[in-house]
Amino acid sequence: MKERHVIGLSGGKDSAALAVYMAMHPDYRNLELQYFFSDTGKELPEVYEFLTKLEGVLNTKIIRLGEERFSEEQNPFDHYLKQYGYFLPSPQTRWCTRKLKLDPFKNWIKPWLADGDKIIQYVAIRADEIDREGLWNTNPNIVTKLPFREHGVTKEMVIDILVSYNLGLPKYYEWRSRSGCSFCFFQQKIEWVNLKEKHPDRFEEAKRYEKTAIEHASPFTWSQGESLEELEKPERVTQIKIDFARRIERERSNRKVNPLRAGLEEYEDIDELYFEDEGGGACLVCHK
Ligand code: SF4
Repeated sequence: MKERHVIGLSGGKDSAALAVYMAMHPDYRNLELQYFFSDTGKELPEVYEFLTKLEGVLNTKIIRLGEERFSEEQNPFDHYLKQYGYFLPSPQTRWCTRKLKLDPFKNWIKPWLADGDKIIQYVAIRADEIDREGLWNTNPNIVTKLPFREHGVTKEMVIDILVSYNLGLPKYYEWRSRSGCSFCFFQQKIEWVNLKEKHPDRFEEAKRYEKTAIEHASPFTWSQGESLEELEKPERVTQIKIDFARRIERERSNRKVNPLRAGLEEYEDIDELYFEDEGGGACLVCHK
């Protein structure tokens, strides 16, 4: 029986900071840590870029799960979309996380569990995330640990870790708060507008998926209450941008300046602006 230590990376800031923190911390650095990333094949290019940078800092390879299912003709997302009758995933039916993120992990650890190995998974829930819970597993051979919570690591400290190891924040933070699929339904309206501007091809792809879904009577659009075709209309885009600018203004006027963090105060999290818990209730495996 062996003990296996694993950290799931989402391409987001918290899991990346946890990986760096554990690789450097005397309590963990002698563990044989394995880093993995479940790839849906629909991730933002910035996610891959950030993971490559992270591999440089960790000086090790991040195991990419799910890649073996990619083919020239079909991406796993397309495969499951068809199985789900072309209904788009949504917060109510999150088949995407189950099929594209969790199942590859379960398949990866299956042989270890069959051998009776114990798996310790480290999850990047921070000390300042009081109500956040991890994915608790009922298998007694899988143990979840929360090093950030145990050591009192907060969001500010996470950013400091990333900055001090020259990783910085993933580039998509300039226009979106969350990692994961380019068309993730947890996006805010402004993030859809930004996706259209930053990655027009990805926006068009999301529109195509949505159009097919609507033709197959899917009750869900990517963004609540309107289709992407409606959202991209110039007058609607202008309105979304005005609303967002007002939010930023409001947030800035309420912000207390911390003189010890000059320079980092400009960091603004889109989720915070919408008074959302980070990830808006989204799964940790995609967005942490
Ligand atoms: S990032 Fe969003 S769309 Fe992608 S698997 Fe996770 S919840 Fe689903």
